Amino acid sequence: MRLIERMKKFFEDVNPDRFFVAFVLFALIMTFVGGVAFSYAVTSHYVVRAPQVVERVAVEDPQGVEKVDYGQFMKLVEDHKIKSARIDMNVVNSVGVDGVRRTLRHDRWLYSWTFPKELAEAGVDVSFADPSENAPELTTGERIMGYVGIATQVLFFLMFIALMVFLFFSLRSMTSFGWRPKVVKSDVRFTDVAGQEESKKELSELLSFLTKTDAYEKTGAKAPKGILLVGPPGTGKTLLAKALAGEAKASFITVTGSDFSNRFIGAGKERVETLFKVARKNKPCIIFIDEIDSVAGNRSAASSDGSKEHSTTINKLLTEMDGFAANEGVFVVGATNRIDVLDPAILRPGRFDRHIHVNVSDVKGREEILEVHVRGLPLSKDVDLKTIARSTAGFSGAALRNLVNEAAIHAARRESPEIEPADFDSARDKILVGVKREGVVMSEREKSVIAAHEAGHAVIAASLENADPIHVATIIPRGAALGFVMQIPEHDTFLMSKSRLLTDLTILMGGRVAEELVFGEDEVTSGASGDIDQATRIATNMVARYGMDAGVGMRRVEMVNGALPVEAEAAVQRLLLQAKEAARRLLVERRRSLDALSSALLLKETIYGDEVRSIVAAA
Ligand code: ADP
Ligand code: MG
Ligand code: ZN
Repeated sequence: MRLIERMKKFFEDVNPDRFFVAFVLFALIMTFVGGVAFSYAVTSHYVVRAPQVVERVAVEDPQGVEKVDYGQFMKLVEDHKIKSARIDMNVVNSVGVDGVRRTLRHDRWLYSWTFPKELAEAGVDVSFADPSENAPELTTGERIMGYVGIATQVLFFLMFIALMVFLFFSLRSMTSFGWRPKVVKSDVRFTDVAGQEESKKELSELLSFLTKTDAYEKTGAKAPKGILLVGPPGTGKTLLAKALAGEAKASFITVTGSDFSNRFIGAGKERVETLFKVARKNKPCIIFIDEIDSVAGNRSAASSDGSKEHSTTINKLLTEMDGFAANEGVFVVGATNRIDVLDPAILRPGRFDRHIHVNVSDVKGREEILEVHVRGLPLSKDVDLKTIARSTAGFSGAALRNLVNEAAIHAARRESPEIEPADFDSARDKILVGVKREGVVMSEREKSVIAAHEAGHAVIAASLENADPIHVATIIPRGAALGFVMQIPEHDTFLMSKSRLLTDLTILMGGRVAEELVFGEDEVTSGASGDIDQATRIATNMVARYGMDAGVGMRRVEMVNGALPVEAEAAVQRLLLQAKEAARRLLVERRRSLDALSSALLLKETIYGDEVRSIVAAA
């Protein structure tokens, strides 16, 4: 069983192209070597040396020997002129009724096997020579060459079998034939996932859908069918899905988007079908589709080649999801780090309509993740996880696990019984090389620029009466933004007042203005480009669509060749300048709040609303 598993693994891992090239090359070489060896052996033995033996026989006993050919000999046989014949390897020595000895040279494979019988029927006394007497012995060379010839044939045969096995397994992996997703029980719990409190909270809401299906069925409530975990690699998406399954005591099936792509026509679709069939049999069940973008990437963006196959696979996935009743106990969790490339169809209600962002953790989260991974390790008392967390900004959960492991290895190499802070330091330096390449680790300078920028937004948002309350301010990158301040409105608003829009503009200006104040006008960065986009859009709408500029007045201003008319453009410009001035006045006035908040952000990376407000108020 183990052997078969291993063989299967081996053959599935083999690169088919290389395998075929290697096989063909090897086969060619073997055919060549085997052929040469074999023909050498045969030629040498039968063509060259055997006739020499006959010559020797003839030379050794030349007296009264008459050479005849086949026709002459058969004629003599028919005429009953031959008394006896002794069939040797390449020669027939006969004695005539008249006592004449005649020799017929022959290549024995030219005669029919009935030759001796024909002689006997004609009354000839037939005997056979002992082959060892006159046949040439195989020389060592001929023997070796013969064996080489045979060995290559055997090898060739074995390779042929290997090829068949390989084809079998690769067919299995490329088609849906025999494909079955593995169903496992997960023993991961939410406590094993650290520093993802928000994601965990959202997921635990889903738990009840999975565990209390009956209750939902009774009330007719529709449980969601799928959620999407969105976030960069190594942040714990797989782990969260496993934890969800573990908490729900549900079966867990992991597949990867690539299980369904790059396959033979129709195989992707069949696999999706099998997947859901198996899941239904094992309900409650969580299907985890990792890298879902590779199966459900935007259909229009897919290459023309695979796109047809691609869309049949997605369609199948969607119909399966549409098809099962929401309370069936099958739940699909997709993971991706590129939600932007996903086919919009899979994001529609009833499909993956809930998205949970799983992001790189902030300093507190990192400390918690470290705590999870140092469980049971012999840490020295000097190790302070807080310090380590602080020095590993940008590290994902996977990178942190790796860090702990490297530190343990380092300690073991020193033959130290405990893991010391120095082990963590060198582990961090080692991993940092890799993490830096991924571009998620910022320099201290950049971090402080981002901290000042976000603090600028936050201080203004916290100071202006009609601004939405701040939910969180962070310098942890999320999506394209290097940091952000998130405000959550207290009420839904349907009408935007001019004063409210001016407030939004002022908040948007706060980032850049803070950079100017803290670092000087020449040191400002590209970090404000998103703010500028948004501010321009708001100001343009105010002027061109909402009639909020007195000079331009209550009229709709259309773009001409992509530009606003001069006077409208000037009005937009004026609004933006005013907003920037307002932001500058506010921040100059609250410079201490700005500095306090940006150092707090540098230290904690993520600060929630209440704390932001109290820092701003205290300074
Ligand atoms: P993803 O699926 O987002 O790429 P994984 O879930 O595969 O990331 O994470 C890989 C490993 O990193 C996990 O098995 C776990 O050991 C560690 N890890 C990642 N995130 C966390 C976390 N938030 N808490 C604890 N460990 C984590
Ligand atoms: Mg993963
Ligand atoms: Zn900004």
